[in-house]
Amino acid sequence: MSAEQRAQRKCTSCGINIAGLSAASFDCPECGHQLHRCERCRKQSNLYECPDCGFTGP
Ligand SMILES: [Zn+2]
Ligand SMILES: [Zn+2]
Repeated sequence: MSAEQRAQRKCTSCGINIAGLSAASFDCPECGHQLHRCERCRKQSNLYECPDCGFTGP
């Protein structure tokens, strides 16, 4: 697996690479696009924005 492919798993809130981290994955409630959030952003309840439809949520 190349670094390019692994880099696709990024935190939707802060953009860090979450490969290998205990991140949460969930589907966008609006469009079903898969989103990821790192542990830090989950704890801080940072807002995320779906790159597909622009939906923002806690
Ligand atoms: Zn994050
Ligand atoms: Zn969406």
